[in-house]
Parts: sequence; C-alpha cells; structure tokens
Amino acid sequence: MSLSRRDFLSACATGASFATLASPSFDRKDWLWAFLPGAGIENPLAHYPTRDWERIHRDQYRYDSVFPWVCSPNDTHACRVLAYVRNGVIVRMGSDYRYQDYADLYGNKATAKWNPRQCAKGFTFHRVVYAPYRLKHPVMRKGWKEWADAGFPYLTDDLRSKYKFDARGQDVQVRVGWDEAFRYIARGYEALARHYSGDEGKKRLTAEGYEPEMVEATEGAGTRCFKFRGGMGLLGVLGKYGAYRLGNSMALLDAKVRGVDEKEAKGARNWSNYTWHGDQAPGQPFVHGLQTSECDFNDLRFSKLIVMDGKNLVENKMTDSHWFIECMERGAKIVVITPEYGAPASKADYFIPLRPSTDAALFLGITRLMMERGWYDADFVKRFTDFPLLVRTDTLERLRAHELFPGYRSDLAPDGPSKRWQGFTDEEHEKLGDFVVWDAKTNAPRAITRDDVGERLVAKGIDPTLEGKFELEIGGKKVEVQTLWSLYQTHLADYDLDTVHEITHAPKDLVERLAQDLATIEPVAIHQGEGINHWFHATEMNRAAYLPLLLTGNIGKPGAGCHTWAGNYKAALFQGSPWTGPGFKGWVAEDPFHLDLDPHAHGKDVHAHAFTKDEEPAYWNHGDRPLVVDTPKFGRLCLTGQTHMPTPTKALFFNNVNLFNNAKHAYEMLKNVNPRIAMIVGVEIQMTSSIEYADVGLPANSWVEL
Ligand code: SF4
Repeated sequence: MSLSRRDFLSACATGASFATLASPSFDRKDWLWAFLPGAGIENPLAHYPTRDWERIHRDQYRYDSVFPWVCSPNDTHACRVLAYVRNGVIVRMGSDYRYQDYADLYGNKATAKWNPRQCAKGFTFHRVVYAPYRLKHPVMRKGWKEWADAGFPYLTDDLRSKYKFDARGQDVQVRVGWDEAFRYIARGYEALARHYSGDEGKKRLTAEGYEPEMVEATEGAGTRCFKFRGGMGLLGVLGKYGAYRLGNSMALLDAKVRGVDEKEAKGARNWSNYTWHGDQAPGQPFVHGLQTSECDFNDLRFSKLIVMDGKNLVENKMTDSHWFIECMERGAKIVVITPEYGAPASKADYFIPLRPSTDAALFLGITRLMMERGWYDADFVKRFTDFPLLVRTDTLERLRAHELFPGYRSDLAPDGPSKRWQGFTDEEHEKLGDFVVWDAKTNAPRAITRDDVGERLVAKGIDPTLEGKFELEIGGKKVEVQTLWSLYQTHLADYDLDTVHEITHAPKDLVERLAQDLATIEPVAIHQGEGINHWFHATEMNRAAYLPLLLTGNIGKPGAGCHTWAGNYKAALFQGSPWTGPGFKGWVAEDPFHLDLDPHAHGKDVHAHAFTKDEEPAYWNHGDRPLVVDTPKFGRLCLTGQTHMPTPTKALFFNNVNLFNNAKHAYEMLKNVNPRIAMIVGVEIQMTSSIEYADVGLPANSWVEL
C-alpha cells in the first residue's frame, strides 16, 4: 500500500481527534500545527519558535577548567582521571586519553593502549568529595573528652562504663578544633604511657587479664601498647605512612616517661597491612623465595592461555580487565576453575567446576599426568628448577655439598648474581650451604651453587639427572638419596585421575584437557584469586599451581607465571639505594632523637632508626590475645612464638582504613575487645563506622584534593 504525505497527515489529524476526545485539555492544534494542511513545513523542529531550552541540556557539560588527578584507593590501580570544574565545584569526571604522553623520571612512557582507564567509582568520586557524610572537622567522643578533662584517671571497669568506653557508637561526637584535638591526643598518649610503663604498668596489664607473654612483650614500656596502622600506606607514603613515623617518635615519649636513654627507648607497635588483608599468597615464598609474584596487568594480553583459579578477572579488576579482554581478542584460550558458574566462567573456553579448597589436588593430578606422559620441557626443568636436586631419604632434607665432599669449598662468586644482586649474605650462605645433583655426564654427584642456573649450569658442563635413586657414603655411613623429581613421582602416585576426581569432583576429561593445554600452549599464566589465600590448604594450593608452569618453562616470560593479584603496585615509591639513602624508611623511621631539620638535606643524610616493632592486627582481632590453648594432656600452651607475640592494645591510631568494618566478629570487637582500649584515633575522609566507634576522628583530604 502506498500512502501520500497528505493522506498520512490527514490520518494523524484524525487520530488526534480521538486523543482530543479522550483528553479534552489537549487541542491538536497545540502540537500538530506544523502538520496541518497548508502549513508547508517539512521539518517541524527547524521551525520551533524558541530553542533556548536546549541550552540547559548543552550547559550541563560546560566547565570553567579541568585538571587531572590520580585515583588512589586500595584497589591500587592508580588511574589518572580528569575533573571538570564549574563555579569552583567539580561537576563531573572524565577519561584522560594521554597515557602515552607523560613519562616517569627516567622518560619511560606507556603506550596509547592504556587508554582509557578508570571505573565508575573514579567517574563518581566527586560525589564522595561533596557527600553529606564527609568528615569535615575533628570530632571527639563526649565521654572520652570528659575522661580526658578528669585528668585521664586509670581506667577501672566502673570508669570505663562512666565514660562510655563500653558504649562507643552510642555516645555523642562533639566538634573540636584541630589544635584542641592534637593537644588532647598528645596528653592521652602521655597519660597512657605512664599508666602502663614499668613494673606498675605490667601489674596493671596482668590484673586486666592479658596473657603473661603479652605483658612481657611490652618490655616495660607503655608505648609498646600503642598501635599504629598507616592504612595501605604504599598508596601515598608521605601521608599514610605518617602514622608509622608517629609510632616511631613514641620512643621520645618513652625516654621521657621511663627516664631511659635512646638506646633503651621503645617506640610503638606498627600494624601490618598486607598480611592482615590476606593479600599474601602463603605458598609463593615456598616456591621462589619472594613475597609474591605479581606482574603488571598489561602482561595479560601476552598470554595464550589464561587459567583463572578462583579468580574473577571479569568483574574484580575494573579498569584493568580490558587487558584480559584484549587477550581474548588475540585468540587466547580461557579456562576458569571455580566451584560456581559466574561471570568469568561465562567467558571461558571451558569451565572446570570443583569442590572448594581442593585446587591443590587438581594441580597435583595435572602435574602427575604431565610428568607421566612426558609433557614437560626437560631442558628447562634441569636448568631452572630444583627438581634435579638430591634429597636424603633418611632426613628428607636436601643433601648439602659440604656433607658429601670432605673439605668442600664453595665457588659461589662474590660478584655473582646471588651476592651482588640478590643480597645473599655470607652468613646465609653458611647456613644454607650448596646443593648436589647427579651429573649424567660423569655419572657422579656434583655440587652446585645458587648461581648455577640456566647457562651458568651448562657452562659448568653439568647435565643433571632428573630421575634417580642413589646410595652415597655420607659421614661414614651409606645414605640413600633421590632426586626431588623421583620423590614427586612417589608423592603424586596418590593423585591418579580417579582419585583427583573423587577429591575435587572435577570432570576427568576436563582435567586431562587442561593438562594437555598447559603442556602445549605458550605462554600460560595462572591467576589465583586473593580470596583463596585466606582459606584452607592455601599454601598447598599456591605451591601446586606452580608445578605445571615449572614443567613447561612458563616462568619469567611475558604472559606467563602464576600471580595472585592482591595488588598492582602502580603507586610510585621512593625506594632506598646506596645513592639515595634509606628511601621511604627515612620517612617512616627517621631517628626521632636525631632529626635532620635541613629542608635541603640529601636523602642519604637522613638517619633511619626503627624504634618500633611490627605486629599483626589479627591478634587484636582474636580477642587481643595470642594463640593460647588449654590442652587435656599438656595444660596451657601458648602457640604464638616470641617473634610474633602481640602486646595489649591500649591506644590505637589508624588512617585510610575502615578498620572495624574490616575486622571479623564485629560485635565481639566493639563490645568486648575495644572497650579495653583507652584511646582510639581514626583519620578518614568520611564518617565511617570506624570513626563512629572511635574517640577522636580527624578529617583527611581525599585523593582528588591532594
Ligand atoms: S579502577 Fe576505579 S576506583 Fe580504582 S583507581 Fe581506577 S578509577 Fe579509581
């Protein structure tokens, strides 16, 4: 059917009649005037009498100025964002497409591939800046102020109730000035140092019910009961780690209160960040001796096989997930191992469901398959891994060269990589010794040092045997030794496909398929979720995931490796070096007795001396006590060693962290643990629950205001 324009307009007019009937307040002439016969108007919008209203729409995006800033929460992505300002107010945020233009101090630039960055949180951060719950001035808990005004009397149970230490959160927060807040806090520290120092202090702590080992750990200094947490300080060392500098300066207070000299003075206890948040992958130091393996996320695009093991690269890495998407676009294969089918599984080539906490068994089963079927790079395994090292089967310890070779003298070079670059000391070398392999060329044991890796091993003319059991004369007796490879064969005998399926519930065909993919695709990266670092078998799971990568040489190359992605470490640090001085340690632990007050002093002139001792906040979150158990057979056992022994927490200072919200067992902490703390000071940009339950809250600027 063909319809002329005139017919169409006529039909519209008829339709409008119905509308007019249904709704008498509308006259068709009001809105169809441009269509009326004879009007001769082709485009009604062009004839609209006034278009001023469109300015409202256009003006929404008008701005007076724009500036870049770095978003710096604990996700550590450190995105550069643009803030658009109008009438002195940030009205919106936007993308900065200049990643390729600016450089670090050495002139290194990123590529345009980094554009754009930031997530919705960066785009809306001005709403945090201007939010009604923004902390804009210091606040002090009314009951705490009354306690301070009463001269900080020693807190008995009655006084704790009187001054509402047991009802923080229900008390009133009053506004105070900065100067007033600082004076109250300083006086509080002094009073508490006096309450808990010396024999009298120890007696009080003991009477309050703290474990005797904790009381001893104070070393008689009340300042050791002060805890400082510079929250995620590497995101802004000067600001956030200032808390640790203050903790170090508590040595001055101790010197004054106890009348000791600087050699005896004790600073505060510094609370950790990394381990408390569970960022540490516990098994990784077992494998390579380093704290954690992390590479920048842009490395993802080089992978040809990405295995997400309890990891969600789709949703959890916000701005950086585009590197993962890019790798998909380049044709990489994606495998997801999780108990549940979620967002990452939807992107996977195949998804291996398994029972929680059984990942280690899965990777051990895969390793067995790869070893049995010869799916490994023998050359890499011999040159770069410890699989060929000989192990004594009588002690299950690695055979040391000095045990086997009388008068053994190590040829570890003083200018080799271990000593020159890795800081391996003579004392450590003395303790650890050198190792022994079975050389296939000479059919005899040969000593190797830490430097005999890769080409250096080849240059020595050693061809280590992978599989073997030998008998050696050690210390006048026959001792059986085996290669680590052979011991793994024994260990992995328990991880046949049926057993792995029974433990993990993972489909057998997918286990085999992953083993084959790991063996044939290169480079491979396994990404393990931070979450599973926190739970059972985490150490074994971290270690087992490395095995297939060690077999195939997927270590130390772009797109390869095993990473946990607890952080990206994109924030800039000023590290220590022989030519710069102590680096940020000079800031957090500058000797308070010998401060360098010259504003032009070279970093090397700063004298660092830590008077503090580190402490794991998990003990505070464990009822402020170490791990003490009553056993039927041995009675009371304190299982926390001296190196990790916490002290009673009497003053707590934290910044840039919602500490109480992070802690487990909120009710227990707020009702039973924190009431025993006499001063809680928090520094925050907004009114968090931790500030609500603090004695003093100090406002901070946010990262867009720096
Ligand atoms: S990912 Fe989002 S929240 Fe994280 S730094 Fe970038 S913009 Fe900020």
